[in-house]
Amino acid sequence: MNIQLLDLKAQYEELKDELTSAVLEVLESQRYIGGKKVEELEQKIADMSNSRFAVGASSGTDAILNTLMSLDIKEGDEVITTPFTFFSTAGCIARLGAKPVFVDIKYDTFNIDPVKIKPAISSRTKAIMPVHLFGQMAEMDAVMKIAEENDLYVIEDAAQAISATYKGNKAGSIGTAGCFSFFPSKNLGGIGDGGMVVTDDEKLYERLKIMRNHGSSPKYFHKYIGGNFRLDPIQAAALLVKLPYLDKWSEKRREHLDYYNQMFSGYPEILVPTINDYCVSVVNQYVIRVKRRDELKEYLRKNGVGTEVYYPKPLHLQECFKYLGYQNEDLPVSEQAAKEVLALPIYPEMTEEMLTYVAEHVVNFVKNN
Ligand SMILES: *Cc1c(COP(=O)(O)O)cnc(C)c1O
Repeated sequence: MNIQLLDLKAQYEELKDELTSAVLEVLESQRYIGGKKVEELEQKIADMSNSRFAVGASSGTDAILNTLMSLDIKEGDEVITTPFTFFSTAGCIARLGAKPVFVDIKYDTFNIDPVKIKPAISSRTKAIMPVHLFGQMAEMDAVMKIAEENDLYVIEDAAQAISATYKGNKAGSIGTAGCFSFFPSKNLGGIGDGGMVVTDDEKLYERLKIMRNHGSSPKYFHKYIGGNFRLDPIQAAALLVKLPYLDKWSEKRREHLDYYNQMFSGYPEILVPTINDYCVSVVNQYVIRVKRRDELKEYLRKNGVGTEVYYPKPLHLQECFKYLGYQNEDLPVSEQAAKEVLALPIYPEMTEEMLTYVAEHVVNFVKNN
């Protein structure tokens, strides 16, 4: 068998006709920037996320960047976040001249550890940016409590967690704003780059819309320095086709998670994902922890199974952040995770036979090593 980490072909085959006509519709309309498709998607994502407003973005990264800019995060400010995430989370903070302040994660969920946030707060702290990693939301009650006590914004990086819930609340709806990505590997993936910000704050909503058009309002009069952060209508059209399937796909991912977990029970060497009972995860990734991770990865590769390491180097130790002065062992939980994690294939269209094949090879490896 040959099982890639993610195979989008099966989904494409199922939606080919719908997608083709949706894209053609945009071509025929000649409306290539903004317009109805973008507005319709914004409305639907806002509704689905239990948020009052949504603003499309050119990527998940630009959703985050626009949010930070619209909240006037700037040079000298500090934003507390996790080092165990995709680069973009901290990259956006640093690009504005603000300082990413990294705090360690919880061992079981890989999400930011609220206990470690308080000691990291300074007079310059403006915001906390929790990341809902692998599809499960961070400890939002604790994060919100600290934020309220210290008058901080909370920006949820929900790129991997669209439609996940925490105690019944949708990802993106708890903080000041939530940011989604429509990168093709995310649960709701476009046919290229795309993203969205959701918020209940009307003032922030108005500012986000101005900032995505170079800060101009009215046109050619620039009150702010913004950027081109617009969502492409072709992406919006494709995403509108896919959106009705999202819940079904996420349910499939949860079933696959249960199946893998069952296959790995009885093997304490394989640490399976911890999903808190007050969270519904959308399982963007199925990440196990093992010793000898690199050898397992190679063994699986030889047997036709694609895997990935999310993430091999925590952000506080990245070369570009050397100036922040972090050292090895400063954030040990993240550093240990980086050595042990391995994401296995878990896309919705996988069959039981495929899941079994992957799981049996993982089990074989730990039995024989
Ligand atoms: C994918 C992702 C982003 C960025 O999204 P893009 O659409 O690729 O720009 C940000 N944060 C996290 C946690 C992500 O997984």
